Amino acid sequence: LFAGETEFLKGVVAMDGMPPGDRCEVCFAGRSNVGKSTLINAVTGRKALARASNTPGRTQEINFFTAADSHYLVDLPGYGFANAPVAVVAKWQKLLKAYLSGRANLRRAFVLVDSRHGIKPVDEEIMSLLDSSAVTFQCVLTKTDKPKKGDLDKTLEQVRGALAKHPAAYPEIVLTSSDKGIGIETLRTLIATLS
Ligand code: GDP
Repeated sequence: LFAGETEFLKGVVAMDGMPPGDRCEVCFAGRSNVGKSTLINAVTGRKALARASNTPGRTQEINFFTAADSHYLVDLPGYGFANAPVAVVAKWQKLLKAYLSGRANLRRAFVLVDSRHGIKPVDEEIMSLLDSSAVTFQCVLTKTDKPKKGDLDKTLEQVRGALAKHPAAYPEIVLTSSDKGIGIETLRTLIATLS
């Protein structure tokens, strides 16, 4: 649906820079290196669309993309940098909180989790923030081409257990591999059906 129709709109560092909330919006969150840029590129069919958000200086911005004139796709900065300065983390958390609680058109957050690692404490923090912001979120497992079947099953079990504790969690988990093209169409359809 979104192929060739997604454009980068703007990078935002403060609430007053947000575009008007005049259409359905979904956001993508995840630890750095989870495969977020690759997944957004796969979903939108644009090879290098989300690369901008990974370049130094843009990593703390909330990046807005317009999809098919009907949706905003929002790329939240990757979290869990091992040695990010405290002040940077604090600023980012403040903006994230403001964004999640202040965006009435935000229909769903996709929390990306690496299928080899499962849910980590920083993911739990984001999920708790989504609970308190009353933003429905759905967990997307990335890189499912990497783990062995048995390990993937263990991750799934861990993720299901964790999600059960979060009132804002949508129970269905989306399994994806951007490399193999798995789950991409599912995700695209899911986004398209939200309105
Ligand atoms: P981001 O920091 O979350 O935006 O992560 P990237 O999209 O830059 O991906 C981080 C690394 O994971 C890169 O080396 C990607 O090539 C790799 N990667 C992303 N998606 C997949 C996938 O589906 N399968 C595999 N095997 N590797 C992936």
